[in-house]
Amino acid sequence: MGKGQNTETITKQLDTVVSQLQRKNAKVAFFVGAGISTNCGIPDFRSPKTGLYSNLRKLNLPYPEAVFDIDYFRKKPKAFYTLAEELFPGKFVPSKFHYFIKLCQDKGILKRCYTQNIDTLERIAGVSDDKVLEAHGSFCGNHCIECSEEMPREKLRAFMDQKKIPTCANCEGYVKPDIVFFGEALPDKLWEFWEEDIDDIDVAIVAGTSLAVYPFASLPAEVGKKANRILINREKCGDFDTNPRKSDIVLLKDCDIIAELLCEKLGWSEDLEALWLAGNKSVRGKPENEVEPSSSQKDKAAATATEIAEKVEAGLEYDKNEEKNKRDKVKNKENDEDVDVLAGVVKKISIT
Ligand SMILES: [Zn+2]
Repeated sequence: MGKGQNTETITKQLDTVVSQLQRKNAKVAFFVGAGISTNCGIPDFRSPKTGLYSNLRKLNLPYPEAVFDIDYFRKKPKAFYTLAEELFPGKFVPSKFHYFIKLCQDKGILKRCYTQNIDTLERIAGVSDDKVLEAHGSFCGNHCIECSEEMPREKLRAFMDQKKIPTCANCEGYVKPDIVFFGEALPDKLWEFWEEDIDDIDVAIVAGTSLAVYPFASLPAEVGKKANRILINREKCGDFDTNPRKSDIVLLKDCDIIAELLCEKLGWSEDLEALWLAGNKSVRGKPENEVEPSSSQKDKAAATATEIAEKVEAGLEYDKNEEKNKRDKVKNKENDEDVDVLAGVVKKISIT
């Protein structure tokens, strides 16, 4: 997996990164993707064979991404909500890499964390609201898709616990978490933050992403020339591959392993361990000696993707039945409605 990167090369590169992070008033920005969350047991969406979309492809969806399509959701919301149940924040513990980001914040060097992930694990790790930008939205807030009325997390959760589709108290439209669906715009805040940050970053750490989804993928390419860019990923990708800069550092290793090595060299190991153990305790309620090593979760992520797809299939069945029920109801009502429409027309005429 290291593609010819030996330990000596990696040690040397890590030393360079450490010296960059230790520079006075260093400003560090992260650009992260699914790869930093797979160790938490969250399946990658786009992995060719094990990813969520690959698993969803077997189902009776018009296309696998339909689960995140706003028009599809408007008609058949259950498929998404089945998936949401599986991915809903609360059962996953942030990875060591998430806690490394949090440590950068604690040490006063975190400028921003741009994430493509919707899992809110950066927030759960303790990265503050003004430091994290979920480019593709997240489970953090919820709004009605028709009138934009907000719904608090607890209320949405209550609907989900009753296996109901959350609906707006204002207009009865469907409510969904603020995950950016296909056909929706990226958050305005992304561009506000980016304008502020683009030329004000000293170290740009790109991790766990193959830089395939635009416009996010173009951010590391746009980052100011004074920034040192670091890629931590399974393979070289994006601008690091097609338009490399002389100062680029590429670390083809597991994100958590790199986080541990960096923390060791920075003298942050104890802090990292303390955060990691506290995280496990608060999410899983596990005593310290039962904490699973972070890497053991990775295989689970692939298994979870299959499991999720199976559940979504059941969700589709539900949508189909709901649709049939609605159709039957409409049929029965058709005559009545014709009368209603007529009545409406008569009313209009009499008003005007
Ligand atoms: Zn509404």
